[in-house]
Amino acid sequence: MDGNIHKMREEIDLLDEEILNLISKRKQLSKKIIDLKIGSNLPVEDARREREIILNLHNKFSDKLSLNFIIRLFDNVFTEAKKQVKFGKLEAGKQQNIIDALNKRPLIIAGPCVIESQEQIHDIANILSKMEVKFLRGGVFKPRTSPKSFQGLGIEGLKYLNIAAHETNMYTVSEVLDSRQLEENYSNIDVIQIGTRNMTNFNLLKSIGKSTAADKKPVMLKRGFSSTINEFLSAAEYILDAGNPNVLLCLRGIRTFEQIDSTMRNTPDLADILELKQKTNLPVIFDPSHSAGNSNYIISLSKAALVLGADGLMIECHENPSEALSDGIQSIYPEKIIDIFEFAEKLIKRRDI
Ligand code: PEP
Ligand code: MN
Repeated sequence: MDGNIHKMREEIDLLDEEILNLISKRKQLSKKIIDLKIGSNLPVEDARREREIILNLHNKFSDKLSLNFIIRLFDNVFTEAKKQVKFGKLEAGKQQNIIDALNKRPLIIAGPCVIESQEQIHDIANILSKMEVKFLRGGVFKPRTSPKSFQGLGIEGLKYLNIAAHETNMYTVSEVLDSRQLEENYSNIDVIQIGTRNMTNFNLLKSIGKSTAADKKPVMLKRGFSSTINEFLSAAEYILDAGNPNVLLCLRGIRTFEQIDSTMRNTPDLADILELKQKTNLPVIFDPSHSAGNSNYIISLSKAALVLGADGLMIECHENPSEALSDGIQSIYPEKIIDIFEFAEKLIKRRDI
């Protein structure tokens, strides 16, 4: 090859490196600006500034580069910079006390998979509240795989949950399967759960987002068991975009080939705690119960999730797991949650040092 071409190519390689070096430097600087904006509660997006940058550059380079080229290049540069923005943040709602409780650590949500009787949820609530668990879960509209399985006590069960939570100074967490269930039971649910099977029910996400926009009632969205992290975040965005910023992200295990010969019901998606914490400011809850489907693993997985930085845990418990009407195999005795609490408190202290 012509020696000149070779030399010029070497020069081009150097220039390309320089271009990418400059773009990386620019990205770092804009990250600093984004962090400052987030710290001062200013919007990250600034379309006017982006337009100004492009027009200024066009004025200076109009004889060398087309406007179209500058726009396409800088659209990519801006998008790359904004990718560094962390997604979402809990905001004050009508009930600031719930948001305060959600911001306290350790954040533990516990209770039976399904509420079986008033006495049962009353007894469990009493045990949990003594350990200072603040969120009482209990399913009443159950999305069961088989139509022959117990489907939950419905509205009656929700009343039991509400009474038990009220008596013990706890908040209720329960799943709804459609908008009508939410409408009819709105005041009895403090944190609305959307289950794994409904993560891609976009109409439901939109409608729950809309009906909670006024009071910003928190919504806990569970990851679809076959969904990627970006699909999970996009599902959360449906609720945020409908006007409710208060979304909790719950990892609950995913389907992989491992179930072929493992005793686990799902693959615990523990590592995604790191990924979500990197991408969002929304609380990340880990559910060891549905992740493992095996009560022997609940304590260890809970501890691992806390070490990895999970903001909270959702744990199924039952007074007599072998007799439970749903998910007994993964339920622990409520008293066992004290181990997790103690571990979490030690961990928080160590982090404070
Ligand atoms: C639940 O937490 O009650 C539940 C049904 O979980 P998932 O939607 O993750 O299966
Ligand atoms: Mn369950």
